[in-house]
Amino acid sequence: MINLEDYAQYADGETIEELRLLASSLKNLKVLHINSTREGGGVAEILSRLVPLMNALGIETHWEVFKGSEEFFRFTKKLHNMLHLPGFSRIESHEVATYLRTTYENLNSIKTETYHVVFIHDPQPMGMVINKQKHQKWVWRCHIDTSTPDPKAWDFIELFVNAYDATVFHIPEFVYQKLQVPAYIIPPSIDPLHPKNIELDRDFILQTLEKFGIDPQRPILLQVSRFDRLKDPIGVYQAYRMVKSKYACQLILAGSYASDDPEGEEVYREMLNATADDRDVFVLNLPPNSHLEINALQRASTVVLQKSIREGFGLVVSEAMWKQKPVIGGNVGGIKRQIIEGTTGFLVNTIEGTAYRARQLLSDRELRERMGFYARNRVKHRFLIIRHLKDYLVLLKSLLR
Ligand code: UDP
Repeated sequence: MINLEDYAQYADGETIEELRLLASSLKNLKVLHINSTREGGGVAEILSRLVPLMNALGIETHWEVFKGSEEFFRFTKKLHNMLHLPGFSRIESHEVATYLRTTYENLNSIKTETYHVVFIHDPQPMGMVINKQKHQKWVWRCHIDTSTPDPKAWDFIELFVNAYDATVFHIPEFVYQKLQVPAYIIPPSIDPLHPKNIELDRDFILQTLEKFGIDPQRPILLQVSRFDRLKDPIGVYQAYRMVKSKYACQLILAGSYASDDPEGEEVYREMLNATADDRDVFVLNLPPNSHLEINALQRASTVVLQKSIREGFGLVVSEAMWKQKPVIGGNVGGIKRQIIEGTTGFLVNTIEGTAYRARQLLSDRELRERMGFYARNRVKHRFLIIRHLKDYLVLLKSLLR
């Protein structure tokens, strides 16, 4: 059970009061969120906290998961990649047919008609809007950097997006110039009361390291991500090799699979092969609910990396910053919004740059601590769930005006 009062320690009393006030005028609403996986990845992570909090505020909110075959998710992963980054892929007619068939199948199993507001997360369930009723508001909540999409992917999105009442993006830069639907900006957030982020005993952290055979005495570089090429795990490994020539450090690549990402296993195997000769590299494939273990690894690490090539937001960056870690992040998407260059961490464009900043941080404890201090404050003021919740309530009010 989530209790709103428990969050008072992370927000002033006025904010909690404002939330209650806003929610009191939305009490008769029924709200539905639909995404395509119950666990694994940032969207599921957010919904698992946001939905109970909306209910705690008295707004009846449900969460349904869109289902698809491997063929369907292979297509939507390709679409996801094309929206992030133009390339050479094409969308085939049989893929469009699979998408539409899967959409109809889900419309049979997920009943949307009784809700006042339906939030659709990302492109996988987007087509369900064909069932939008006159009295309803439908919102497409995009978690992808669509600032420079592949035109073929955007054409596909356009088949559906114009039927929505509104769209929501993480940052203004993601709103593609061709979008014709009203766009709202709501950055994601982390929950300080989630097992992923709560304070941990030193003993538990040490036990976790011991369980995986990691040496607590030597520095640790860590990247936590789904096994996904856009997170550039190979680039992280190469940067670590450059650092390793000078510092006897260890590298942890901790990840898990998400049921809507069929590439995970392939990328995991690639990483196992690429790093097999180095006993200081730990490629950990964890069950998706390993929140306490991820928390412990983040707290145990010396420097956290998130060297994504493209990134919607990158919740893992805020998670590490909340734990007072300096983060070296790819200079892309939502990572740019979280890290203040040179103050809470570093933004990098290359493998060499990543290695350079990692060496700098490994050699300077005072710098790490200073950055960690500012990092936690940044998350406290900008990226905690209370702010996120309030943004959603304001959006609901403005939609129903
Ligand atoms: N995560 C996890 N276990 C893993 C890898 C990732 O619990 O092995 C979590 C991570 O802590 C974060 C989310 O999955 O909360 C990933 O969100 P992010 O926005 O960083 O990336 P996405 O997967 O959505 O692209």
